[in-house]
Amino acid sequence: MGKVNRYEFEGEVIEVPVYWDDHLQREVEDYEDYCKQPGHTPSGRPILLTIEDACPHAEMVDDDPASIDCGSCRHYHQFPGSLLGVCDHEKRRKKKRRSPRSGLTPANKEETLCEND
Ligand code: SF4
Repeated sequence: MGKVNRYEFEGEVIEVPVYWDDHLQREVEDYEDYCKQPGHTPSGRPILLTIEDACPHAEMVDDDPASIDCGSCRHYHQFPGSLLGVCDHEKRRKKKRRSPRSGLTPANKEETLCEND
């Protein structure tokens, strides 16, 4: 496994891969996977880029009409030195769907509470 930056949120560890950028001459975080398919913490909280468009559940920290992204929402907790952060809004948490027969939750059957996912 390559190098990663580690962050902690509510006791959960989030690892973000980093790579060497020849142009910048420094290590940078690899956000590509998060842009293709947003990740979640082990408890189902979404890990988002600060520039993600705000969702219908947004509660902006100010009344500035220019506040249109997660980075301006009070539910967003940005990792220090990163463009990634965690949303703590309960309606954005990924929940597992119960199987009608066994009551168990298949790993491949998950849903979120958010209407715009
Ligand atoms: S509630 Fe979460 S997903 Fe919605 S705007 Fe706020 S931080 Fe972003």
